[in-house]
Amino acid sequence: MPASLAVLALRSAPTGSLLAMDGADAALAQRAQELRDLIAHHNRRYYELDDPEVSDAEYDELVAELAGIERDHPELVTAESPTQHVGGAPVGLFQEVHHRTPMMSLDKTASFEELLAWGKRMERYISGEVAFTCELKIDGLAMSLLYEGGQLVRAATRGNGEVGEDVTANIVTIGAIPKQLAGSPPEVLEVRGEVYMTTSAFEELNRHQAEIGARVFINPRNAAAGSLRQKDPAITAGRDLSFCAYQLGDVVGGPAFRYHHETLDWLRELAFPVSSHVATVPNLREVDEYCTTWLHQRHSIDFEIDGTVVKVDDLAQRRELGATSHAPRWAIAYKFPPEEKNTLLKDIMVSIGRTGKATPFAILEPVVVGGATVQLATLHNEDQVRAKDVRPGDTVVVRRAGDVIPEVRGPVLALRPEGLPAWTFPATCPICGSPLQRLAGEADTYCMNVDCPGQQVQRITHFASRGAMDIEGLGERTVALFCREGLLADVADIYSLDYDRVQGFEGFGSISVSNLAGAIETSKSRPLANLLVGLSIRHLGANGSQVLARSAGHLDRIMDAPEADIAAIEGIGPVIAASVKRFFSLPRNREVVERLRRAGLNFAGPGEPGQPQTLAGKSIVVTGTLQRWSREEAEAAIKARGGKAPGSVSAKTTAVVVGSDPGSAKLSKAADLAIPLLGEEAFESLLQTGQLPEH
Ligand code: NAD
Repeated sequence: MPASLAVLALRSAPTGSLLAMDGADAALAQRAQELRDLIAHHNRRYYELDDPEVSDAEYDELVAELAGIERDHPELVTAESPTQHVGGAPVGLFQEVHHRTPMMSLDKTASFEELLAWGKRMERYISGEVAFTCELKIDGLAMSLLYEGGQLVRAATRGNGEVGEDVTANIVTIGAIPKQLAGSPPEVLEVRGEVYMTTSAFEELNRHQAEIGARVFINPRNAAAGSLRQKDPAITAGRDLSFCAYQLGDVVGGPAFRYHHETLDWLRELAFPVSSHVATVPNLREVDEYCTTWLHQRHSIDFEIDGTVVKVDDLAQRRELGATSHAPRWAIAYKFPPEEKNTLLKDIMVSIGRTGKATPFAILEPVVVGGATVQLATLHNEDQVRAKDVRPGDTVVVRRAGDVIPEVRGPVLALRPEGLPAWTFPATCPICGSPLQRLAGEADTYCMNVDCPGQQVQRITHFASRGAMDIEGLGERTVALFCREGLLADVADIYSLDYDRVQGFEGFGSISVSNLAGAIETSKSRPLANLLVGLSIRHLGANGSQVLARSAGHLDRIMDAPEADIAAIEGIGPVIAASVKRFFSLPRNREVVERLRRAGLNFAGPGEPGQPQTLAGKSIVVTGTLQRWSREEAEAAIKARGGKAPGSVSAKTTAVVVGSDPGSAKLSKAADLAIPLLGEEAFESLLQTGQLPEH
């Protein structure tokens, strides 16, 4: 059957024509129809309502599937197929504008092979050398600007490519768009470019929306589209929109150009903002380099790009190449992998941090986005959840850009099940059950119970983490196990761990236990700044800790300094100073610090010696149980002061510290060698002065 007849048959009597086809063809025709209907539906949601139901990646997959079917079965192409059209129909909010030259779409590619295939296809129309101008594909909305006598007279959206909407009143509010051209403008000039919102303007807008309790926007493109489609230009004026010109449209009376890059230079002279990231290159290999470079540095600029656009530079070659029904043959969009996908928000839960902060987070149906599978994403705080209005059961837009942590951008309202209840912040801590409190004037909610096991685990894990005391083998899971087993309740307990019990736990052989003990021992000499980080003092981060350690020189001086003195240190300020003061004024924190001191941790800042080396050259043996010191703490304190703490008495022993139930072999050896025996008090005095008591 000739293709045109097949199309007719499909359109006039689909069922009959399906019967006439064999099974496989009928199934394909049916799928093509389904895809056309689906794509038409999504076009409406995206272009007319600014409220898409699926991510661009999912939409692009549907279009690619339809295009694939149509390529293999040209007889299935219909005149209404979205592959034959551009964009969406005007929605009647504004006056219609018939474009002088259609505003087309762009063909897409995602690989170098496809780029080469595009180059090959062009050889059917042109021959000889081809140079390319490469540009960034800004994610915004295409705009046609018409100037007469150098004066902006009309701005129109792309619409369906033939007919767009007159948005002049809104466009004149955008500062970046010239209303009067510079230099010597031609009689008539049509310029095409992208209206977009920078990432920083988008974040600012959403901060403001959240503050006034309005709905936040899902992404900068959506925000730009929503800001332009306003009946009241004052609203558009309040949104920080940008513009970038990338293409000359109709020109009457202007200079003649040979190359596209020359037209861009001219647009710049006329006062249009033109991207500084444009490059003209001699072949597709260099095009590929440009695309790859921008793929990797797409987040180095303050606006979102979803790819690059590659254009034949020679305008005569462009004319030879012409266009298909919906896109020029002389340009192609090199699309980057998507960074946004839609998925189901299964639940919202709250995690408890080391300072007691209760952070809501999203549990998602796992989705591959930005090169990784995402199943959890922070929702920051109560206000953020409210501003985004995300609810368990919603389909949500998830974004993962580069190394940035995954983000839930917002719900797809059109897909929200009816009656889905809003999420409310829990009243009690999910771990210890005590009430959660939101402090006045703060965005965060806290579990106020300092003994909350959730906080304990996080505090100890943080203390052992890389930026703090860096104790290898003491990660969150191990800390949680030790806390559960009653071995750890605070950070000082790390230095008197009962290794006999640890060895009894599953997965802890003698090697891993001795490695852990070694790592804990090593941590004692970490710089003071690391210890300060490890103590989880609110507001005091890595930088503040460095500054504090350097300027105070010793933990004792920080603990006892007046708040005003701390605040006066450059780089600290009143908030940190108050927090440091509060931390060290709590007896339980003081007690932990004293136990850390006894364990022999380094309290001295850079430029200061560690503990005074009172025991340098001395050898002290500890036997029996002391009241205020565990064996490990006592031995660590001796070593921190330059002494040795061997396990047996010899002629080299300076003194033996004796607690209750001492080892009888050690005592008799000491007696044989006339080595002085010390009680707990004498031991503490020895640590301080290095002197043995006089008898
Ligand atoms: P496109 O929007 O991806 O590409 C064409 C557009 O690129 C032009 O109209 C122009 O606005 C823009 N552009 C940016 N920089 C440019 C430059 N330097 N030179 C030329 N043009 C530049 O293609 P399209 O097929 O017209 O639109 C489809 C896009 O819209 C896709 O990204 C698609 O995923 C998305 N979409 C999504 C949904 C959805 O439901 N999620 C529905 C419809 C369309």
